[in-house]
Parts: sequence; C-alpha cells; structure tokens
Amino acid sequence: VIEAARATGISNRFCLTTNGSLLHTASDDLWQAIDELEISLYPGIKKSRENIPLARKKAEQFGVQLTLCQYEQFRATFSLQGTTDFTLINNIYNACRIANVWGCHAVRDGFFHKCPQSIYVQLLLGFEPKNDWLAIVDQPSFQENLLAFINSPVPLASCAFCVGTVGRLADYSVLPRRLYREDLDHPLPDLVDNDWMEHCLITQDTIDDCKIPLQVKGARFFASFPWLRRVTSFLSLFGADLNILVHRWRPPQRNASESLRHKTDK
Ligand code: SF4
Repeated sequence: VIEAARATGISNRFCLTTNGSLLHTASDDLWQAIDELEISLYPGIKKSRENIPLARKKAEQFGVQLTLCQYEQFRATFSLQGTTDFTLINNIYNACRIANVWGCHAVRDGFFHKCPQSIYVQLLLGFEPKNDWLAIVDQPSFQENLLAFINSPVPLASCAFCVGTVGRLADYSVLPRRLYREDLDHPLPDLVDNDWMEHCLITQDTIDDCKIPLQVKGARFFASFPWLRRVTSFLSLFGADLNILVHRWRPPQRNASESLRHKTDK
C-alpha cells in the first residue's frame, strides 16, 4: 500500500501509526518503505512496550524516525442516539480537527471519505448516508469535485452521530466487546465537552490533547552514548516508564472529572 501511494507522488514522506503489538511480525520490506514509525502506547497493552527495543533497533538500521506517544485518556466518539440539533451538529463539524485540521481522510473500496469515522457511523447504524463519500473516478472534473467535497462547510450526515474531536474526556479503559453498543447508547449532546468545543471553534491548532509524546531528555547526550539509550530501552521492557529520562509533553487539557462535571452542571 505504501509503495503504491509513494508511486503516485502524493508525498515523499510516509509515517505508519500503530500500537506496535504486531511489530515483531513486520518484514524488513515494511521498514524499508516508511520514513517514520509512530507507536501509540496504551495502558495495559504490554506487547507494544515489549516491541520498543526491536523498533529502536530496526529504526536505527533503516534510518526511520521513531516516535513514541502515550495515551491515558480518550474523548467520547459516537452516539447511537444522535441528535437533530443542527446548530450543535454544525459546531461539532466546524470544531472537528479530524476533517478540518489533520486532513485525516480515508480511502476505502474506491470511495474517498472525509474522515474514517463516517465509515464507522455507517457500520454502526446500518444506514448509508450517501453524500458522506465521493466515488474516486478517472475524470477531469474529479479534482474540482474532491476539493469541493473536502472544503464544504456543510456537515456530513454522519456528524449527527459523531462528536469528532470534542467528545467528553474519559480515562482509558478496555471495554469488553459486548458492552460497545451500550457505551455508545447516549444522546449526542450528553457526549459533548462544551468547553473544549468552544475552545476548538476559536483556535484550530493541530494539537491532539489526548496524545502525550514521549521524548528522551538530552537527546544529544544520548547520541554520544548510544549504549545508554539501549539500557533505557531494556528497562522499558520491564514496564519502567523512565519518568526521569523521558520528557512527557502533555498538551493543555482538563481532567476527565472536570469534563464530566461540565456536562452534569448543564
Ligand atoms: S463524522 Fe465525526 S469525525 Fe467525521 S467530520 Fe463529522 S464530526 Fe468529524
């Protein structure tokens, strides 16, 4: 896939984002194809941490930039009950960094999707919001249609069931599959972090406030002593979070209880 994308000339830099739990099965062809590997670390996913030393070794061998990010909280995502409040839908769409800032678009089965979420809304609700995607066709008008679709100020039909990047915060936990639907079965307005939405409507920066990038303090120092870097990798294998050595840049955010309190105060 990466090679096919590179062959189009769309970009000369490709980053693979993964939780890293299957990295030990990745072939050298994959390492050769990418420029950057971003590993998302979630509490309790041990295999991701176990694969960090391997990732460091391969990254060094293939000249790939390695980025580690930790996630401790998530924002609410979908609402099965949705809403018919168009003002709210419009605000969620305008504040949505996935569609408007990060350019996190998706291609699937010959269709272009403004965001991956709109694919899942269709699967979750079993309906087909037809105007939420664009057929990829080999026609001169396609570029113009694509730009119009991406830049449209009109929310997708899916936005009535999705809180984009302004869902209320919750501490990370792994739900059993049987509870997925129950967790999403709320009216959409109950899932919105209104303060954060107001903030995002004013400041459309690129920050993902749930992502905590981990950076080794004194990178230059470690460059002079690569063996020390290997020691830290080894320690991380045993779950040591290396808080002394790792700089955790936490984006501005309120805690989950504040997010929830705002909701109950309303
Ligand atoms: S469906 Fe969700 S992620 Fe996609 S544009 Fe609407 S609010 Fe954003």
